[in-house]
Amino acid sequence: MTELKVRIAPSPSGYLHVGTARTALFNWLFARAGGGKFVIRIEDTDAERTDADLVQPILDALAWLGMESDEDIVYQSQRQDSHRSFVNTLLESDCAYRCFCSKERLEKVREENRAKKLPPRYDRHCAGLSSAQIQEQLELGTPFVVRIKIPAGETTYHDLVLGDITRANTEIEDFVVARADGSALYNFAVVVDDHEMQITQVIRGNDHITNTFKQIHIYRALNWDPPEFGHVPLLLRPDKKKISKRLGDKDVAEYGAEGILPQAMFNFLCLLGWSPKDGREIMTRDEIIQAFSVAGINANNPVFDEQKLLAFNKEHLKSADIQQLYDLIAPDLVSAGVIDRDWLKETANQDFVKSTIDLMRERLRVTKDFAQLAAYFFTDNFEYDEKGVARQFTPDSAGRLDTLADRFEALESFDKDSLEQALDALATEQDIKRAALIHPARLAVSGMTMGPGLYDLLVTIGQERTVERLRRAVAFVRELKHDPVTE
Ligand code: GLU
Repeated sequence: MTELKVRIAPSPSGYLHVGTARTALFNWLFARAGGGKFVIRIEDTDAERTDADLVQPILDALAWLGMESDEDIVYQSQRQDSHRSFVNTLLESDCAYRCFCSKERLEKVREENRAKKLPPRYDRHCAGLSSAQIQEQLELGTPFVVRIKIPAGETTYHDLVLGDITRANTEIEDFVVARADGSALYNFAVVVDDHEMQITQVIRGNDHITNTFKQIHIYRALNWDPPEFGHVPLLLRPDKKKISKRLGDKDVAEYGAEGILPQAMFNFLCLLGWSPKDGREIMTRDEIIQAFSVAGINANNPVFDEQKLLAFNKEHLKSADIQQLYDLIAPDLVSAGVIDRDWLKETANQDFVKSTIDLMRERLRVTKDFAQLAAYFFTDNFEYDEKGVARQFTPDSAGRLDTLADRFEALESFDKDSLEQALDALATEQDIKRAALIHPARLAVSGMTMGPGLYDLLVTIGQERTVERLRRAVAFVRELKHDPVTE
């Protein structure tokens, strides 16, 4: 039995596009679900559109999403001899012909077609050359390209996503498969590579359907069985335009750099055009592998909505492994100057960072939020939120915070329950609402008006620092009180 083998074939003309990443995922999942192989082929034959420096970033971005090639990566540019030799096979079997037409003649044919409102097709002038005429041109050294002969009739193939698709062969001209220097053109190289790599299914964007028909003609001309084809709908922006770098749409690595988790991106991209039967949304990689089938791919163009991606990220942040979050967030803290690299060498400090991440994870949209939202865990030198000061640091709050600091200082065990009891007791004694202590206390220990539950926050900050911070706030409020009122 033939082994299932699929591929992703990025052209290194830009960083990894979200659309290519999504197509790669569908292929990868197809391979995993069917126990087959997923292979990466770099389509770097077109020197003008290829930037060798982009290959590694593309591979890195695929690896970030968890996709690596199950076989050696194929570089199309290293396969040019094979492409050329199959061009000769086509010529020998008379399924292709040399076209000696000059640029000027081709332009003239195009003009004539345009004038007759016909599509710009080659008129097959050279298909009718006799052997003697061909020989003569070859002896003269006239440059030629190689064109495939498209037969009459129509072509149908069964698309894995779209069902049967039929096109009249007249829609396709005798297109060029090899340039004057003998090098193969895109569609020809793809067919030779897919055949020699023994690709069994080609799953790609539906902007390739016309190429698929051209490629089927090449397979037939070479007497090869084509693989199965499946065309997935293209991603749209919320304004329904096609996603594009030019319009400012980001590539995969940029999302990673902004603090999107790879598992969130994986989950989100898979659901763009595919959904499991039970309609689940937030899923792990393994759950997706279990549920994936090409039959679940929808033919409509899905919208890539960043807000939804952020919502997915938020969910995945809640369940992510703490070490993964630490590995992403710790370097951010160092580069933001919140902590020192050396300080992180101590295991106890690493554990402290982990406990703060664990406490804050529910409040993050992206990992990058942490350095901003949680710096107060690592420095006592933070400012108080201005609106918070106006609302919470009322003259009365100074005395209350001072007493609260006394009570917290006296606690033998600095745990959530003890803290809650101490605060409740003080509120009852002073006949005030608990909120009149909770809000100023939060502002005092974090500088912020929002954050994790107060008692969790205090436990993480620790008894000594909590008491110090409360006292610092008391002094701050007293200073405030003595400020002359300036209007
Ligand atoms: N290099 C092509 C692209 O990036 C690959 C198309 C294919 O999968 O055949 O669109």
